[in-house]
Amino acid sequence: MNEAIKPCPFCGAGAKWATGRVGCKSCDIYARDERAWNRRAEPQWISVDERLPDDETPVLIMLRGEIAIGELRWEHPSHEETYQACRYWDNPHDDGQDWQWPDVTHWMPLPVAPTEPS
Ligand SMILES: [Zn+2]
Repeated sequence: MNEAIKPCPFCGAGAKWATGRVGCKSCDIYARDERAWNRRAEPQWISVDERLPDDETPVLIMLRGEIAIGELRWEHPSHEETYQACRYWDNPHDDGQDWQWPDVTHWMPLPVAPTEPS
């Protein structure tokens, strides 16, 4: 196994071997071996059939097979006799672009934006 040992997933410091375990040089975390240490959680696409994101929160979406940014919105008709809320996807930066509900199959939370160097 010559896989390079990754930096600490929590603080970014280098890793070290310590009594048969791999650990962080800076914070107090260890893994039983380098394979366990190197394992990282991959962001997962979530099926819209399984779970939906919070309303009006931009997320990554699979839109007709391509990655885009969208958010879930609800339409609340004003006439009570025909009241039926309906949900739809929209572009957070461009209202009314008319995506159909089945156009979006999966979503995942947006990654955290980089911090600007000051
Ligand atoms: Zn660390």
